[in-house]
Amino acid sequence: MAELSLPCAFESKVSLALRTYYGIGGIARFLAHPRTPAELADLLLWNREHCLPLALMGKGSNILFSDTFFPGVVISLDCMQRICWISDDELFCEAGADNTLIAEELLQCCRAGGEWLFRLPGTIGSTVRMNARCFGGEISAVTAGIQTVSLDGRLRWQTSDEVFHGYKHTSLMDNPEIVVAIVLRFPKICAAEQIKDLMQEYETERLKKHHFDFPSCGSTFKNNYTSGRSSGSIFEELGFKGRQEGGAMVSEYHANFIYNKGGARADNVLRLVSQMKIAALKEAGVQLDLEVECIGLFDGNLLETCGVKNLTDTHDPAKGWAGLLWSPQEVINKAEIPEQPFPQVLLQGPLLGYNGADRELPSGGFVAVEQLLSIGEAIVDPEAPFLRWTTRSNSDLFSMKPPSALPTGTFYDGLWKYGISELFIAHIDAGGGYLEFEMNPEGHWVALRFDAPRKRAQGQTVLSAQPWTGLLRMVMNDRSFGMEFSYKLIEPLLNGQSIALQCCASTGSGEYGLFPWWEGSPSPADFHQPERFYKITLL
Ligand SMILES: Cc1cc2nc3c(=O)[nH]c(=O)nc-3n(C[C@H](O)[C@H](O)[C@H](O)COP(=O)(O)OP(=O)(O)OC[C@H]3O[C@@H](n4cnc5c(N)ncnc54)[C@H](O)[C@@H]3O)c2cc1C
Repeated sequence: MAELSLPCAFESKVSLALRTYYGIGGIARFLAHPRTPAELADLLLWNREHCLPLALMGKGSNILFSDTFFPGVVISLDCMQRICWISDDELFCEAGADNTLIAEELLQCCRAGGEWLFRLPGTIGSTVRMNARCFGGEISAVTAGIQTVSLDGRLRWQTSDEVFHGYKHTSLMDNPEIVVAIVLRFPKICAAEQIKDLMQEYETERLKKHHFDFPSCGSTFKNNYTSGRSSGSIFEELGFKGRQEGGAMVSEYHANFIYNKGGARADNVLRLVSQMKIAALKEAGVQLDLEVECIGLFDGNLLETCGVKNLTDTHDPAKGWAGLLWSPQEVINKAEIPEQPFPQVLLQGPLLGYNGADRELPSGGFVAVEQLLSIGEAIVDPEAPFLRWTTRSNSDLFSMKPPSALPTGTFYDGLWKYGISELFIAHIDAGGGYLEFEMNPEGHWVALRFDAPRKRAQGQTVLSAQPWTGLLRMVMNDRSFGMEFSYKLIEPLLNGQSIALQCCASTGSGEYGLFPWWEGSPSPADFHQPERFYKITLL
């Protein structure tokens, strides 16, 4: 196998058993550690060229990885753990942030409503995917919005209603999208002592039920509420407590937990799972669905008896692939995906302060870049609006205005000194040049062209609106402002169908915002870093 180099930090030949909470799993060819949404999007793009099976993990407290070699890339978001308050009651969390650390942050800030996250194993990204719940709390109830990356690299902001579909079901289970961040809302202020007491009560409850005696994945099956009984009580009645297969054993304290008592293999766990599922149906008349997510190549029959959706392996029809984010098989299936209607969101989300200067940016800035036409349509009509960039703000983000009352649509060199939203559009190769657009809610604007970071292109010393005539137009309404760009303007920056985009904002008094956000903060703040921009493939 030729050695490949991934476009982000990665390790080769990693034992998944050693990296997962459950302590089960074979060797993965690659474990990738993207640090930003842009690095993650690069990785997804890279993988489309290399066609490797792709999987995603948090801490592995709800995954059963197969024992066999995983021949592709497992993505871990363990380098994306930023937590910051973006308003008085809104906490921005990158997907790799640990549930317990989030609960501790809430305790420190005297915010109630997240006590149940304390000692809930795992990361917040998966907690969203699973719509995890306990002690009367559920992640859907405290979620203000979810930032996802689709497999084609689109960075979308989704509402709770779009993602959460009731008990332990989310859209993310049906459409493979990766949660990169989440905004949680905790409006209730409470005494720290009260919050701490509740956290301790929940921890004690878990310890009493022996949750942490051995590695497990928590509840193996979801509850079937129509049965009127919990899955645990069904398995207890059926005598499963203490049932063992190799190193896997049904807990003696909670019959829906399967412990890894030491050296358990995925096959051991699945054999217990299949016995439990069959018995629940035959002997108790209850259909139960697995909560644990199986990922990798397993015995196909075993997967079927456990009710796990799988794709037959092309080399060995007795084996089935389960839980992949993407598989080479998709290339074959791709032809069947119907074309999607335009406009399509390419990027969409809240502006954040530079990492480390988080609270300095007033909250409420929200930006979007949409593609309005397919590339094919745009080639036929290159002067029609092709990309649309908009900014929405309900805050004082852009309250610093130019001194004189300029008419809407004025091209004003010097706008950078005031509150502005900015868009950079770059060629994905360094040295390919980029464009910068600045605009404020009053419709004043500036546009300029660079050959390299901060190196203005020829003819751009004195700026004017003239070179942009017919290439862009303003869009303004009560709620948002922005611009539409023609294909003729964008085309020189395209590399194939790919381009790099970066939204930014500045208040005019030294506070800066980014979307997508970056890891680490350049000092002094500097947006002109095209290598950090978000690469996206147009549709
Ligand atoms: C002792 C114990 C007790 C538990 N108690 C509870 C409980 O009370 N309530 C409850 O609901 N759960 C419980 N769980 C299950 C587990 O804590 C949750 O499901 C948790 O959210 C899993 O987090 P993780 O990071 O370990 O996810 P993983 O196990 O790594 O991943 C779970 C799934 O999420 C996917 N995933 C991972 N990251 C992302 C992402 N960023 N975007 C989209 N998908 C992603 C994975 O591909 C996988 O399909 C318990 C588990 C244990 C071990």
